[in-house]
Amino acid sequence: MRGQCARVYCGIEIKTKGKPVCDDELQTGFLFFGAPRVQSIDALASGEFHLYIKGKNRNKRPVALIVGILAALVTVLIIFGYALAQEPQRFVAAFELPDLITRTPTLLEAHVATRPPTLTRRPTNTRTLVPTKTPMATVAPTATPRPKFDPHFLFGRPVQPDAASNSPDRFYLYGTTGRGEYEVHHGEEFVNPLGTPIVAVADGTIVVAGPDILPQCGAGGNEVCGRQPDYYGNVIILKLDASYKNQAVYVAYGHVQKWFVKPGQRVQEGEPLGEVGQAGIALGPHVHIETRLGANSYAATRNPLLWMRPLPGTGVLAGRLQDRNGNLIRSANILIYAADENGTYIGDTETYSRDQYPLVNADDTLGENWAFPDLPAGAYIVRAYVGSLIYERRVTIENGKLTFVTFGG
Ligand SMILES: [Zn+2]
Repeated sequence: MRGQCARVYCGIEIKTKGKPVCDDELQTGFLFFGAPRVQSIDALASGEFHLYIKGKNRNKRPVALIVGILAALVTVLIIFGYALAQEPQRFVAAFELPDLITRTPTLLEAHVATRPPTLTRRPTNTRTLVPTKTPMATVAPTATPRPKFDPHFLFGRPVQPDAASNSPDRFYLYGTTGRGEYEVHHGEEFVNPLGTPIVAVADGTIVVAGPDILPQCGAGGNEVCGRQPDYYGNVIILKLDASYKNQAVYVAYGHVQKWFVKPGQRVQEGEPLGEVGQAGIALGPHVHIETRLGANSYAATRNPLLWMRPLPGTGVLAGRLQDRNGNLIRSANILIYAADENGTYIGDTETYSRDQYPLVNADDTLGENWAFPDLPAGAYIVRAYVGSLIYERRVTIENGKLTFVTFGG
C-alpha cells in the first residue's frame, strides 16, 4: 500500500486538489505542520471517500530547510549566550545604545543613594553594645543590697553583767571550728563557772525547758533540739516577743545545769531561767547561746553577734571575705589589730566553714561569713589570710553599732 498514493490512509483516499497524496507525505505533513485542513470530502460509489485538503503537496525539502534554520538560530543563541555569560559588560558595551546609557547613570545614582542606609546601620550596632553592658551592670545591684543592713539587735546577754564572762568566747565563734578542733559552731559560748545564773535575753515565752533527748523542736516538734539527741544535755528555748520581718526569733541555751522555767511560761529580760552547766557534749562549764530565725530548728541558726546588743562602749565587726567572683571564702583566718602606732593585736577568728547538714547561715541581708564581738569604739585594721595572699582593710567601730566590711579578691 505504501508508495501507491491511493486509499492508504485509514481507509480513506486522500487527494490534494484532486491529486492523491501519498500517505508518507501526509504523515510528514502531520509531523511537521499538523493535520492538513480538510477542504471537502466526496463520497465515491465504491464506498470510499475523496478527502480534499488545502495546500500543496508536502515534501521533505521544506522540512530540511526549517531544520537548517532552527539549527542556525540555536547556534547563534548559544554563541551570544556564552559571550553574555563570560563578559557581560563587554558584551553590552559592544551594543552601545545612547538612550540606555544616559539612563543608567541615574539608576546608578539611585543605587548609591540607597547605600547610605547601610551606613546608618552602624549606630544600630553601637546600640547592641549597650545592652551587652547592662547585664554587667545588673551584677552590681545584687551586691549593693547586702551592705544595706537593717539593724536587729533584739536581745541582751544570757548572763548578768557581773558574771565572769558576759562576752562570747573568741576562740569558738559562730561558724568557726576552733581552728579545726571542733564541729562547726552554731552558736556562741559564754564560759562561766558552774551555777552561774543564766537570764532571759529578752521578753518572751519559754517553749522548751529540760533534757533534749527526745524530739521537741522543729516546726512539728519532731526534731531533736541539737545536732543529735542529748547534744545540749538540758536546753532552754525562749521565743522572743519581738519578731523580725514577720519571722519568729528564738534563743536557745545549751548545757544548762538547772532550769527554773517550763514551756509556756512568760519571762522578762534579765529574769533568771537556770544555771550554767556542762551537760551534754561540753568540755567545760559554759552556756551555749543560739539564735534561730523563722523556726525553732538547729538548721535555722543565725550568728548571735548580729542580734545581741554590743556591750556598752563597744560595737560589732562583721565582714564578708569573698573571691573575685563574689563567692565566700571559707575557713580563712581573720586577724584584727588596733590602728595605733604599734598595731596592737586584738584578736582573730575564722570565716565560716562548710558544715555537714545543717549549714550555718549568713544574715539574709548581710551575707557575712565572719563576725567579731564587743570591740571598743575606735579604728582597727582587719587582715584576711587566704593562702599566700593578704587582704587588709581599715575599719572604724562605733558604740552600739555594727561595722561591716566586704573584701577579698
Ligand atoms: Zn557551743
